[in-house]
Amino acid sequence: MASFPVMKFGGAALADGAAVRRACAVVAERAPKRAPKRPAVVVSAHAGVTALLEREARAVAAGKPRGDEVRVRHHTLLSQLGLDPELLDRHLWELATVLDELRGRGEPGRSALDFVLSFGERMSARIVAACLREQGVAATAVDAFDLGLSPEGALRPLPAFDSAVRSALGAVGGIPVVTGFLAQDGAGNLTTLGPNGSDLTAALLAEALDAGEVQLWKTVPGVMSADPGLVPAARLVESMSFSLAAELAGQGASVLHPNALAPARRAGVCVRVLDVNRPERAGTLIEEHEQAGGAPRAVAVASEPALVALSVRGGGPALAGLFARMAGARLTPRFTLAEGGGLTVFVPAGEGVDALARESTGVSIAREVASVAVVGHGGAVLGARALEQLHEAGIGVERAFLGSGRAQAFLVDPDHRVAAVGALHEGLLEAPLA
Ligand code: ASP
Ligand code: MG
Repeated sequence: MASFPVMKFGGAALADGAAVRRACAVVAERAPKRAPKRPAVVVSAHAGVTALLEREARAVAAGKPRGDEVRVRHHTLLSQLGLDPELLDRHLWELATVLDELRGRGEPGRSALDFVLSFGERMSARIVAACLREQGVAATAVDAFDLGLSPEGALRPLPAFDSAVRSALGAVGGIPVVTGFLAQDGAGNLTTLGPNGSDLTAALLAEALDAGEVQLWKTVPGVMSADPGLVPAARLVESMSFSLAAELAGQGASVLHPNALAPARRAGVCVRVLDVNRPERAGTLIEEHEQAGGAPRAVAVASEPALVALSVRGGGPALAGLFARMAGARLTPRFTLAEGGGLTVFVPAGEGVDALARESTGVSIAREVASVAVVGHGGAVLGARALEQLHEAGIGVERAFLGSGRAQAFLVDPDHRVAAVGALHEGLLEAPLA
């Protein structure tokens, strides 16, 4: 059994020069440097760069002049790290050319946008590989989109993927530093795997390479019992099962990519969420069966700040049309309700939802809500206790989704979202679990 890990570093773990250096030290310290035991590293774009590139592409396409932030940001990183200031010139030049081609063209299409976004990961891979070499570790940046990673095949990659990955990564000198997030569609065009897509890249590589572990290096201690930004009393969840973690991701907890667990689970590879600032700590272990004593076993989740309720007239065909459009726009419906002849679809608020409603016949924006959930064992009994907590906290629940599954979810007023997740955490997770 191979024992090397696939080590993935998220954008926050690579936010500036000091962070990149710390991440590289983690790789250098923990990793045997020689094949076949050497690790593979997967990187996200530096924190905020993906969003910056997206804004830049939209602004330029709308006729605004091209900004300088992306170049300045990367040059600052190079200078903070004492790396060759010309390391990224080819990429920055190409990016400028691509943006110039979008100028004044109006709302960029998905593939044009993805191409612009790809520069984030392509440049961070170059920076991390160069920083590793500075630290005396042989490393080579690798672009993952030509490895045959495709979003259509992401849940089950094409048969040729394993051998393409093995030969491509086997051929590079030193530790491969692979771009996360980037893939290729069926027609061979570059595309992307969605927010936190690098988690999925790491899991697919681990499956293809028969790695011993997927390590997701972040700037949080691990999976927490609630978002610590919303609930200061949140605690580390030391271990959880794949199915609980998948449910958590599906309820909108931003800590994991919703599809990233499937390949790891299929391959029998465990996933660890680790803190790059405290690399000696064990973080959260996600595997088939959770460890006894890995309490708390439940997590309170507040999903995106707001969900838009879309009301759909015209029944199944209208709904099918809407779903197809949402898939094209990469919007994931969180809940769908059919009742009294009407259909309501709840999607995370954000750019694109307004346009979606405008362009789809029979679809209108009804209102905004927020969803909060408790993910854990206990089924509807846990759900009923959660409902009671919300009631005691004076929080009105518009709808409750209780069931025998591992998630009990509630729709509340967006203004009550933080109070609701706090009440669930305090009532169900801060008290000792029965
Ligand atoms: N850079 C992409 C994002 O910000 C992918 C990732 O970080 O995994 O979502
Ligand atoms: Mg990210």
